[in-house]
Amino acid sequence: MDPFQTPLTYLKGAGQTRAEVLKKELAIATFEDLLRHFPFRYIDRTKFYKVKDINPDLPYVQVLARVISKQIVGEKHTKRLVVQTRDDTGTLELVWFKGINWIDKTIVPGTVYIVFGKAGSFNGQAQMAHPEMEIYSPANMQRQGNATLQPVYNSTEKLKQFQLDSKGIQKLTATLLGLHAKDIKENLPLYIIQHFKLLGRADAYRNIHFPADANLLNEALHRLKFEELFLLQLKLLRNKMLHTQKFKGNIFGTVGHYFNDFYHHKLPFQLTTPQKRVLKEIRQDTQRGVQMNRLLQGDVGSGKTVVALMAMLIAVDNGFQTCIMAPTEILASQHYQTISTLVGDGFIEVALLTGSTKQKDRRVLHQKLESGEMKILIGTHALIEDKVQFKNLGFVIIDEQHRFGVEQRARLWRKNVVPPHILVMTATPIPRTLAMTLYGDLDVSVIDELPAGRKPIQTLHFFDNQRLRVFGFMKKEIALGRQIYIVYPLIKESEKLDLKNLEEGIEIISREFPLPEYKISIVHGKLKPADKEFEMQRFIKGQTQIMVATTVIEVGVNVPNASVMIIENAERFGLSQLHQLRGRVGRGAEQSYCILMSSHKLSHDGKIRLNTMVKTNNGFEISEIDLQLRGPGNLDGTQQSGVLDLKVANLATDQELLFKARKTVEQIFTKDPQLALPENQVLHHAFETKNAGLSWDKIS
Ligand code: ADP
Ligand code: MG
Repeated sequence: MDPFQTPLTYLKGAGQTRAEVLKKELAIATFEDLLRHFPFRYIDRTKFYKVKDINPDLPYVQVLARVISKQIVGEKHTKRLVVQTRDDTGTLELVWFKGINWIDKTIVPGTVYIVFGKAGSFNGQAQMAHPEMEIYSPANMQRQGNATLQPVYNSTEKLKQFQLDSKGIQKLTATLLGLHAKDIKENLPLYIIQHFKLLGRADAYRNIHFPADANLLNEALHRLKFEELFLLQLKLLRNKMLHTQKFKGNIFGTVGHYFNDFYHHKLPFQLTTPQKRVLKEIRQDTQRGVQMNRLLQGDVGSGKTVVALMAMLIAVDNGFQTCIMAPTEILASQHYQTISTLVGDGFIEVALLTGSTKQKDRRVLHQKLESGEMKILIGTHALIEDKVQFKNLGFVIIDEQHRFGVEQRARLWRKNVVPPHILVMTATPIPRTLAMTLYGDLDVSVIDELPAGRKPIQTLHFFDNQRLRVFGFMKKEIALGRQIYIVYPLIKESEKLDLKNLEEGIEIISREFPLPEYKISIVHGKLKPADKEFEMQRFIKGQTQIMVATTVIEVGVNVPNASVMIIENAERFGLSQLHQLRGRVGRGAEQSYCILMSSHKLSHDGKIRLNTMVKTNNGFEISEIDLQLRGPGNLDGTQQSGVLDLKVANLATDQELLFKARKTVEQIFTKDPQLALPENQVLHHAFETKNAGLSWDKIS
């Protein structure tokens, strides 16, 4: 039995109560959990600051100070514990807002403490909130082994009541390593360790907790990051391989008259190079007898829909039915319109199925699907209901994939004996590192070039006090016959404020653009769906020149005549949202503009976001910057994914390492797909442990 699966109760010094609290508070239940509760910071405990030298610009510091007095002040939620301390250079005030009673009990006036925390200042007085306190004694200054850097661990107020503050956790970890470090088994092949000059696993664990020096800490981190990324890729790529072996796929052997007719007689433009490449990739995928699982990424307007249609026509040419599933009715009906227009009359029947399809039409449709007469179906979730049966569904396109759950996708699969080929389309480009991880077991296609002749959208940033210029510009555009969006943020936390902004905005716009010369559509989340639809339609038909809206228009409005997108309070939107909004214009032949309005008060990140928008139209570039700003867990479309729960590695900063790990895994599988070689035996272990905390059900 693996000693690291031992419950923590059995660790000397843990005990039943403390083990229970650790489990409850930090989900640390076993030796392994404790071992993998890594420090989130280290401090050089050899250095003490003087009170007069500390200031808010410093990181966490420690000072030696004597407690002079302590006092609980305030009532209810202003209640706090204030402790005055001093060294020979000045006074330092310590404050606690939580766990007051317990901390009060532990602090003894007159005693010298090692006070550890981040300095702030309040009315010119140096202050620390919730510092860690340790009674100073020469014995306390002794360090663990030969470590010069001391680990700081996450803890909670509750744990602190059981002497499990950072220090307490440190002691347990030291005990564990002392007893069991020798049992930590290597899990990477020796030749890889040698090739990349990695620290051994046991050494890595020792040094991530108690680094002998900064160098070894870095090496430990490097090793554990590599291990994490490597094992993740190993699982993803093995999954992909198993998948390929397990699922047969329909063979689309021929390109027939539907495709050829469309290509030669109906396609109104030349395909771009990436569009051709993607079609070729799909062609290859669908001739191998293996189920295709492909992700198609491309900016709004890059021409994904045409590619999808042409791939569908190939499926039809081979006797199969196909469908597109979109996340909203608006998107579904838009696809329906686009595709109906592209194929024209009398070529092939295309049907739309959504929640609002009438019962009567629905029955007819169901029959046509069951008999196989209907070949191309476009719809929403309505299309995966059990009532909808296909005769021979061979190819499925899922638009905007992250809105569909695993279960929903699985239901599509079950609609045929041989699972249909799947193409997932997304207009939210994500960085390569994320794609490699989130969709590591999918094949990825990219359309990274817009159709020729399209004028890039010009993006400008104006401050609120330059509004008059913007109005002037709007009038000029309207005089040229163009239409304009004005978008206000709608962020849940401050819905009231947002509504107020919107209302004020509407008032100003209505005054500046009065009837009868100007007509305005107003769309926001508080409208009834029917009213919303009515207002949208007025704009779509060109009956109004301005659409004032909250972000409801983000998805799925297509008005080629709209050439200006004005985004109010642009600093409050995330990058990908700004990019999506901007994608609403630039759909026609005219030069389009995106105008970002903001106040002068911009945060550091806010500035970067707006500058990025002004600088580039490329969604992939924007997603890379978004990743740097927000970190991997917060990008749109990634939140639900457990795959990103990496413990040591960071997809934003460890890109190179990820590429290395991925490449190494690919090489291993090329040479030894079954991992049968003796030197790769050690890798089998990876599939038996939960190690990187992954869930494997996410794609299929
Ligand atoms: P996406 O779905 O990627 O947002 P669409 O497929 O809706 O993009 O295409 C956007 C617009 O560009 C549509 O009007 C489409 O007809 C047009 N389009 C697509 N591909 C080309 C091309 N190769 N050349 C010119 N126009 C194109
Ligand atoms: Mg589209």
